[in-house]
Amino acid sequence: MSCIFCKIVDGSLPARKVYEDDDVLAFHDVNPQAPVHVLVIPKQHIAKFSDFNEHEHELIGKIFYAAKKVAEELQLTEDGFRLVVNNGANAHQTVFHLHVHILGGRKFTWPPG
Ligand code: 5GP
Ligand code: ZN
Repeated sequence: MSCIFCKIVDGSLPARKVYEDDDVLAFHDVNPQAPVHVLVIPKQHIAKFSDFNEHEHELIGKIFYAAKKVAEELQLTEDGFRLVVNNGANAHQTVFHLHVHILGGRKFTWPPG
């Protein structure tokens, strides 16, 4: 198995975890782009957002609910935070295990780069 996020799920690669349940894991990004940069992933390997199938919509809800809880826990809610899902090469997806970025602790610009 070569997927680095699957290795974080099975514990063979370390990560600074901030949230975990049966279906979802959240951990700090190793190369943070903001004072707070956390990744929320499904434990199940889904390569990218556009691979979600119609039977997995409940899992999307769980991922985003976990993101909300993490943002609250890390006190990002009042000032605001950004959620990002890079999907595919043009969007700069580099790890092909679906993840939602939670970025906070600074102001962001729009449109994104
Ligand atoms: P993408 O560009 O695919 O949307 O984001 C992948 C993210 O995963 C990047 O922000 C990168 O820093 C992060 N990342 C890559 N490898 C590791 C790792 O081994 N551990 C952690 N915690 N984050 C990683
Ligand atoms: Zn994986």
